[in-house]
Amino acid sequence: MAIYDDLGIRRVINADARLTRLGGSLMPDAVRRAMDDAARSYVDLDELHDAVGQRLAELTGNEAACVTTGAAAGLTLATLACMTGNDQNAIARLPDRSGLRSSIIYQRPHRIGYLAAVALSGARLIEIGVEPDVHPAELEAAIDEETAAVLFVAGSHLSEGALPLEEVVETAHARGVPVIVDAAAQLPPASNFWHFSRDLGADLVIFSGGKDLRGPQASGLVVGRPDLIQAIRRHGSPNPRLARGMKVGKEEMAGLLAAVTSYLALDHEARVAGFEADVASWIATLADVPGIVVEREFPNEAGQPMPRCRVTFTGPEDAARRDAVVAMLWDGDPRVAVKAVGVNAISCTPDTLEPGESAVVGDRVRLACHATLAN
Ligand SMILES: *Cc1c(COP(=O)(O)O)cnc(C)c1O
Repeated sequence: MAIYDDLGIRRVINADARLTRLGGSLMPDAVRRAMDDAARSYVDLDELHDAVGQRLAELTGNEAACVTTGAAAGLTLATLACMTGNDQNAIARLPDRSGLRSSIIYQRPHRIGYLAAVALSGARLIEIGVEPDVHPAELEAAIDEETAAVLFVAGSHLSEGALPLEEVVETAHARGVPVIVDAAAQLPPASNFWHFSRDLGADLVIFSGGKDLRGPQASGLVVGRPDLIQAIRRHGSPNPRLARGMKVGKEEMAGLLAAVTSYLALDHEARVAGFEADVASWIATLADVPGIVVEREFPNEAGQPMPRCRVTFTGPEDAARRDAVVAMLWDGDPRVAVKAVGVNAISCTPDTLEPGESAVVGDRVRLACHATLAN
């Protein structure tokens, strides 16, 4: 990588996850080509937004869609859209929220870091769920004339104790309140493009463009109700409104469209079979290393139906040894990033790796595990 060499920084083999701090994900050729193509001419940006949105809606089986600068931006924009609808005066008056419905209800198990993106809209966040399980009556009682929307964060790892989406939609819709679904990392399966909205009735559903979709790192997708998608467009660039700073370029629009097109054409079964082979080979590579237990985990931490390999250190120095292995992998050249899990384990993921890297990860983890063995 000439650019990283030139800057004097190491590249990273990413066996951790599709993390923004590691550069998100790597775009396939088709996505890079689409961005390069779009970058070569001026265009009417609203016309491009309309055309790309319509194509994305068709591809994802939704009534409407639009591109954002990421799922976090999608959360801010979806909240704004639910607060103002298409009231142009209200949109122009923001950040003055007087007279607007401006609270967002979410369930305790869905308290994720990205709620800050919802709050950025100026909305007040209202958490429900005092006991381990959220009760339907809590949601009914929380919805009032201030409620702009109910936020639901999708993912099997966040579902324990939470009301299911079907029930949230039914309760909210009975009171005329829309439901926003944060499905940022819920691909695969590709059927989630339409499942939450078309099958389960959510009004707006948000996906990250820079995770498994492998679109531009600064891209996201929102699908759902045409009137709310239109409101999102009005809040954002090229209009000089509150969300102008979340500007989507022509390159990101073209790139995300190419990414969704590619994603729908992928053979996901074959992909997962490849990941299973990587995990099996790591387990074989590490099988005879003393002081560790190696196993396959499924689904992964984000609740995606893909396998990972977990290495748990055993013995009195387990936590210190784990930390030393993580540091040794990161300090090599290239750096190798793995996920630290709990106090004494790491996990390695195959789905972020480029061809040939899985063997490098296996060898580097094996070396580090040996090097950190107590004498
Ligand atoms: C990753 C993630 C986001 C943020 O996505 P970006 O596209 O990086 O802005 C939001 N919500 C959830 C649940 C996520 O996993």
